[in-house]
Amino acid sequence: STFQDIDMGKELMENVRRCKYTKPTPVQRYSIPIGMAGRDLMACAQTGSGKTAAFCFPIIAHALHGGFQPGARGRKAFPLALVLSPTRELSSQIYDEARKFCYQTGVRPVVVYGGAPQVQQLRELERGCDFLVATPGRLIDIMDRGRVSLAKIRYLALDEADRMLDMGFEPQIRRIVQGEDMPPVGRRQTLLFSATFPKEIQRLAADFLHDYVFLAV
Ligand code: AMP
Repeated sequence: STFQDIDMGKELMENVRRCKYTKPTPVQRYSIPIGMAGRDLMACAQTGSGKTAAFCFPIIAHALHGGFQPGARGRKAFPLALVLSPTRELSSQIYDEARKFCYQTGVRPVVVYGGAPQVQQLRELERGCDFLVATPGRLIDIMDRGRVSLAKIRYLALDEADRMLDMGFEPQIRRIVQGEDMPPVGRRQTLLFSATFPKEIQRLAADFLHDYVFLAV
């Protein structure tokens, strides 16, 4: 199978070609069509499996297909997509990939994480943010400062959810995903990725996902 078998739109396909991805990895082969169909997804996938593209491609393709309007500049950002990830390192890796996938599409990714000054991150948010990659604690700080609203989120992905729980982020994740600001289940698409599927992740899946597909690769 090839990426041409999946209709992700011309602009994204061009960027996939630029990245020199020719053949989808197994997690991409199964999860991209599910994501493109608009379904919620619980995917068990390891680091290095190509999961970043697996959740980024459907998000970007949908945004572009839906007559995407770039987010306005301003003091408060209203991203269309949110990716939560456990660490600064993983968030910056996701951001670096998202930038390549979003090249010349007008979709603007921004990353925010803890352990670095907020000033620069807030400045990037002010310049417009469509696709936000964030660690949970820093996102809450920035939300509490009134600098980002989740009210326009249509696509939500949680990467390495088991690691986020191991790091004690469950209260923060629940505040973000089940908070007043976030559109409820059914009014957003949610993609949950985890290496393992213990009870705690099963509970998150039940609470965050709607009529979801379960995928283990
Ligand atoms: P990830 O699991 O998303 O962190 O991806 C692991 C590495 O594989 C990253 O360096 C990606 O750029 C690369 N990668 C992901 N998908 C593909 C693909 N279909 N073909 C070639 N390389 C890929």
